[in-house]
Amino acid sequence: MVITIDGPAGAGKSTVSKALAEKLGYLYLDTGSLYRALAYKVLKHNISVDNESAVADLCSRTEVELKNVGGKMKVYLDSENVGEKIRTQEVGSAASKISAYGTVRQYLLNLQRRAGEQGGIVAEGRDMGSVVFPDADYKFYLDANADERITRRLNELLSKGTASEYESVQKEMIARDQQDSKRQHSPLKVPEEAIIIDSTDLSVEQVVNVILKYILTK
Ligand code: C5P
Repeated sequence: MVITIDGPAGAGKSTVSKALAEKLGYLYLDTGSLYRALAYKVLKHNISVDNESAVADLCSRTEVELKNVGGKMKVYLDSENVGEKIRTQEVGSAASKISAYGTVRQYLLNLQRRAGEQGGIVAEGRDMGSVVFPDADYKFYLDANADERITRRLNELLSKGTASEYESVQKEMIARDQQDSKRQHSPLKVPEEAIIIDSTDLSVEQVVNVILKYILTK
C-alpha cells in the first residue's frame, strides 16, 4: 500500500509521516531529503543554484541512493550518509531552488518510484500524490496556517541548536512557498482525490489518528 502526504514546509509532514509509518510498520520515504542531498552537493561545490546547466551537469556526476537501514530509509550521496548535514535552512532554500529544474526532478523520479515498489510505504513531499505516485491508495494534503508553520520550523531549528529568528524563518518560508507552488514542473498543489487536513490546532497524534481512521474506514 502506498500512502502519500503532500503539503507546504512546516505543515508537520515529516513528524506525521514518520509516526504513521511506525504505527503501520511501513517504510517512511522523505523525498525532500533527496532534493536536499543534491542541494548540499551543489553548495559544497560552490555552484550557483541559479545556474541550471551547471546543476544538471553536477547531477549527472552524482549518485543519490536510498538504503533501508534497520527499516529506515537513509539517503546516501556518493556513498556518504548525509544525515543531519542537509537539515539546515540554507540547504532547504537551495533545495527549493534546484527542485524547480526538470532535469533534477527527472533524475530523482525513478529513485522515488523504485522505493514505492516495495509497497508498505508512507511517502512525503510536494508531488507525491500528483506526480510520483498518482495511483497511491491514499492521498493526504497536510496544511497549517503560516504563523503555526513558521513557529514549528523555528522550534525545530532551535532544538537542533541552530540560532534562528522568527523573521528570518518567515522570510525563508514565504520564498519557499512561492517557489514550490509557482514552478512549472510538479508544483506543490492539492493532488486530485487528496484528503485535506488542517493541522493548525491538532497534535501529531491527532493528525495520525485522523489519517488512520480514514484508512481503516475507506
Ligand atoms: O520537505 P523539505 O523541506 O525537506 O524539502 C526541501 C525542498 O525540496 C522543498 O522546499 C521543495 O522545493 C523540494 N521538494 C520537492 N518535491 C518533493 C519534496 C521536496 O520539490 N517531493
